Amino acid sequence: DTDALPNPEVITRLNAMFALPLDRLKVIVKQIISDMKTGLERDGGAIKMLPTFVTKRPSGRERGSYLAIDFGGTNLRVCELVLNGHAGEPQLLQSKFQISENVKTGSGSALFDFIAECVRSFFQTHHALDAHDWNSKRWQLGFTFSFPVDQISIKAEIENFDEKESANLSTDTSFIQGTLITWTKGFTATNVIDRDSIRLLEDAFERMNLNIEVTALVNDTTGTLISHAYQNPDTYAGVILGTGSNCAYVEKFSNITKFRGPPPPLGTTEMLINMEWGGFDDAQVVIPRTKYDLLLDRNTPTPGSYTFEQLISGMYIGEIVRLVVLDLARTGDLFAKATIVVRSPLHKQYGFETSYMSRIERDHSFDLADVKALLEGDEFEIVGTTLADRKIIKAVCEMIGLRSARLAAAGVCAVVTKMNKLNGCTIGIDGSLFEKYPHYPNRMRDAMREILGISSENILLEQAKDGSGQGAGLIAALAAEAA
Ligand code: ADP
Repeated sequence: DTDALPNPEVITRLNAMFALPLDRLKVIVKQIISDMKTGLERDGGAIKMLPTFVTKRPSGRERGSYLAIDFGGTNLRVCELVLNGHAGEPQLLQSKFQISENVKTGSGSALFDFIAECVRSFFQTHHALDAHDWNSKRWQLGFTFSFPVDQISIKAEIENFDEKESANLSTDTSFIQGTLITWTKGFTATNVIDRDSIRLLEDAFERMNLNIEVTALVNDTTGTLISHAYQNPDTYAGVILGTGSNCAYVEKFSNITKFRGPPPPLGTTEMLINMEWGGFDDAQVVIPRTKYDLLLDRNTPTPGSYTFEQLISGMYIGEIVRLVVLDLARTGDLFAKATIVVRSPLHKQYGFETSYMSRIERDHSFDLADVKALLEGDEFEIVGTTLADRKIIKAVCEMIGLRSARLAAAGVCAVVTKMNKLNGCTIGIDGSLFEKYPHYPNRMRDAMREILGISSENILLEQAKDGSGQGAGLIAALAAEAA
């Protein structure tokens, strides 16, 4: 029955494009390690290797109440973290807000006003009864701003620094600075690049009469690492597999030879590095790219930038599936007997959400009934698909989902090898791909087993829950301890 069986040639052709065999993965791991080393020596490499100024992990004895903002993807979260001096589940209050296209692509001041607005709304929700108390208190806040930022220092280190020099460094009340190097993940708000994001945020707080001081600037990867380390001290890396993809890990301070700025506290042996691994292989030398990957990249606001992230993360891989499906429909390999309405989101950029890949891969019914429901429903309005069509679509999702997991695994293998931790460590991983995409964690583990052999079993990949909010609060607490 030709309606039930996909054309094997189509599957073979696509497989050849998207497969990442072991020898290729090994080349990728080697190149990541080499780029990591270069990035620690000098700026300007493919992997930015940004020093985070976070020089210790939590002890579990932290105390106090800290605010945190998590900004950098699909949603914004405002959290309050209450630490009572012993590790375990800390108390976490939070509110979540969707970040609209207008906010992402409008003016920078509107973007920071939106953030301040969300904080005000958080207080109204969680502190309606003690409004006087929260108004009179000066809050300390950890700001998770998950974009590539060139940071000068988290506050604590600057204060330990020679007073004359810190006076030169800061021209305003804020002692920490972090300038946005480039937007990623579809953000384009104006007048933010090359400016101090802390200053922009504190100005917005002032405009809204919020008595808040930003004491730590954090990347979501760093926050994930720190918050997972609070529960599990053996955590040596934090990985994000959500809207974007990135990793932070623990590096020997003496290896960060490009480090500039005030010296960290005496006795510092380690500093977390925000890799910004999304920029790996932007020169497109080691990872095979398909015509679909190249097309996706050309249609982003920043072509040629963060192309590793495009092959991995939730913002993009659904779009790659969409481009493949459209192309197969054009060549007649798909939907030969089906009708697609003109307004179907299949025709719109980013019209195929990555969560649909999860839904499709989760359908194990013999006739792929749920895939049919998805295609026929309001989502796509594609009527009359054959079982062969649906099998091809599921196979496409598998190939692209598998490639994403294998690349993420290559990244983790490189980091663990670089840290010399093949004898064992824990990696905290946050993001919808790892959490919700069926088989994703196991596909990563399988690839790690191929690359590292038996040692891969010493490397624990653990789901980090809400890492970036809690982590930013913890880093604000660490900064307060050091001050
Ligand atoms: P963040 O924006 O903080 O990274 P998430 O980790 O939730 O937030 O990642 C959001 C991304 O994950 C979006 O790109 C979305 O398309 C994708 N996503 C959401 N749900 C799923 C799912 N069930 N399976 C796969 N991807 C998903």
